[in-house]
Amino acid sequence: MLRSLLSRHPLRSAAPFTRRTMATATTPDFNKVLYQPLAQIDPEVQNIIDKETWRQFTGLELIASENLTSLATMQANGSILTNKYSEGLPNARYYGGNEWIDELEILCRKRALQAFNLDPAKWGVNVQPYSGSTANFAALTALIQPQDRLMGLGLPDGGHLTHGYYTAKKKMTASSIYFQSFPYGIHGESNLIEYDSLASQARLFKPKLIICGASAYPRDWDYGKLRATADEHGAFLMADIAHTSGLVAAGELNDPFEFCDVVTTTTHKTLRGPRAGLIFFRKDSKQAPDLEKRVNDAVFPACQGGPHNNTIAGIATSLLQACQPTWKAYAKQVIANARTLAEELVAHGYKLQTNGTDNHLVLWDLRPLKLTGSKLEKLCDFLGITINKNAVSGDASAQTPGGIRLGTSALTSRDMVESDIKVVAEFLHRAVQLALLIQKESGSKLLKDFVTAASVEQEGKEGAKLVKQLRRDVKEFATKWPLPGVDVKDLKKPAGIEEED
Ligand SMILES: *Cc1c(COP(=O)(O)O)cnc(C)c1O
Repeated sequence: MLRSLLSRHPLRSAAPFTRRTMATATTPDFNKVLYQPLAQIDPEVQNIIDKETWRQFTGLELIASENLTSLATMQANGSILTNKYSEGLPNARYYGGNEWIDELEILCRKRALQAFNLDPAKWGVNVQPYSGSTANFAALTALIQPQDRLMGLGLPDGGHLTHGYYTAKKKMTASSIYFQSFPYGIHGESNLIEYDSLASQARLFKPKLIICGASAYPRDWDYGKLRATADEHGAFLMADIAHTSGLVAAGELNDPFEFCDVVTTTTHKTLRGPRAGLIFFRKDSKQAPDLEKRVNDAVFPACQGGPHNNTIAGIATSLLQACQPTWKAYAKQVIANARTLAEELVAHGYKLQTNGTDNHLVLWDLRPLKLTGSKLEKLCDFLGITINKNAVSGDASAQTPGGIRLGTSALTSRDMVESDIKVVAEFLHRAVQLALLIQKESGSKLLKDFVTAASVEQEGKEGAKLVKQLRRDVKEFATKWPLPGVDVKDLKKPAGIEEED
């Protein structure tokens, strides 16, 4: 007891251990591998990590669901905590030896409530979900019974797979396989959530749960309206703020906690932590006074086994960052950058869904250009601009989405501000114009012919040559910026990367 009190003294943790990278003279052969650094024992995996590091350094990361986490988070994530089993909750574990793991999980929960400005008397949080999808399935398990009815935003309208997605042929995800799900949508012209028709649909469908939140919706939510609809049917209201949680924590978007029973999130998108999930639950729910127990039991044992304690340490240290005054400045910059990106694209005459953004993402409708999202995504991969194809409102085919989703969280983590985003927008403009040229030169509508025309230099054709040139420009710009957790000064092109310097 005395020892543990002493080691809680802050000074005691000021000197972290160093990693031992050599076996001793008495280490048996079968244990020598335990001390060898990755690069030594496994150059193959090390090389893959080096190539991925190089890709992140030399490219522009515009995937809206990604971010660049901190050095501290990566250190926690790669720590010795990965060794420990701790099924259960702090002070109620199924295994011994959890004194420090308990301290970690309690600290992480405290910071999670603090980051979202929540009163611990009214809200609790489970920090064990392995990721956003598992957090959502555990939340559904806690809130409703198998085959109960739920409503979520349809996938083609920006919703997420875990909110009840199915097709005409198939129930696609656990949320539609184990529950009856029914999608609500966005308005055909404004592309905004249709709260009134949602309310009418709910009167017919009578859901037990309404899920809000999205993966590709550039505007904010009216949680109050959704609460009123949920209350009409005695339904729970759950917000999945996976994409926007960093902006919500900063107070830059509407507050879902005011109206929801449960709030889930990932920790690796705008929140800038390790890959994991969180489930917040109301402790003062009249509808379900036992919500705390229901959520905790749903995470373990219903849906998961032992928590990933290295990840929980990473969440804790990311949340510490999100509690600092600088977090608000980061979130404001992410949004300002997204607005700038939207304005620049609109100024070039391009069409954006909802004509702009309130958050970190922009949905770009390429259909007026007669270009598919797949082709632009592919071309941008050659250019070192990472984006993803995305359905846009009214897409005829889910297989060939007509749009692109862009986000500014990662570029903002590389220190970019509005004037830099204008340069990025110009690259995107050049990429689209180049895609149109290549499409014309390929003389075909097929993606495979497009890829050939973009990558193989052919006589009398400009496409592949211009791709190389634009790639050089993108790389020159991207490598001016730092990459969190990496000393880019020492970074060299690793073996296996074909492109010229
Ligand atoms: C990303 C996302 C998830 C899933 O998170 P994973 O960590 O990929 O499992 C869930 N909900 C929404 C709205 C998301 O955007």
